[in-house]
Amino acid sequence: MNLILLFPEDFISTTRVVLRGRRKDHVATIHRAQVGDQLRVGLLNDQIGTGRVIRLDQDELELDVCLNDHAPAPLQLTLLLALPRPKMLKRILQTVSSLGVKHIYLINSYRVDKSFWSSPLLQTDKLNEQLILGLEQARDTILPQIHLRQRFKPFVEDELPDIAAKTQALVAHPGATGNCPAGVSQAVTLAIGPEGGFIPYEVDKLQDCGFLPVSLGERILRVETAVPVLLSRLTPIK
Ligand code: SAH
Repeated sequence: MNLILLFPEDFISTTRVVLRGRRKDHVATIHRAQVGDQLRVGLLNDQIGTGRVIRLDQDELELDVCLNDHAPAPLQLTLLLALPRPKMLKRILQTVSSLGVKHIYLINSYRVDKSFWSSPLLQTDKLNEQLILGLEQARDTILPQIHLRQRFKPFVEDELPDIAAKTQALVAHPGATGNCPAGVSQAVTLAIGPEGGFIPYEVDKLQDCGFLPVSLGERILRVETAVPVLLSRLTPIK
């Protein structure tokens, strides 16, 4: 936790917060903070700054907060991800949240196991828990938006043209003839397939929508590896 993410309900006055549970425990046992120490804090969907420890006891941490800086710039990239198995999804959400992705579409694909769609992890608060861990890691406050799209064809036909408009639209697909571009200055819409890959019909539908199939070379990567490799290759460092 490189930033303690604060929520409006933590505030007991305009500059004071009281934290309990996970965040208090982390500050006490990992940061080993003492009264007077300054910690990096940020308000959800708002500014970042510092929190000075006023009180730290068994149950509560009280901070005096000053929010005076902007959260890091978001990545100009919308991610379409074929719904991965829940354990992998948890890790991927933390990763993409740390990397600054703000728009995520979890989509169906022929090779997505149907049971994944009934995972309790897909409840909004459970998804947000993972995204928040990523924000705390990367010192960010802007919560990514996740959209669940359980039907591939209507999503691609009705919604995707607007989402991908005016962006460089790419589908990561092993064996594609084109190599994945690097350091793209334009906004990107990136589609990543399931463990079994997109089927030809799905790649065709994405191509009809203007997506270019691109490859990362002959090594086939696990989805959780392909995601950070693609994001870091495509986006310039800020
Ligand atoms: N069995 C599938 C591999 C799927 S890998 C096949 O042979 O096609 C899962 C997803 O990760 C892919 O759909 C793709 O989006 C991405 N990916 C993994 N390795 C890749 C590579 N070398 N090039 C492009 N995309 C890759």
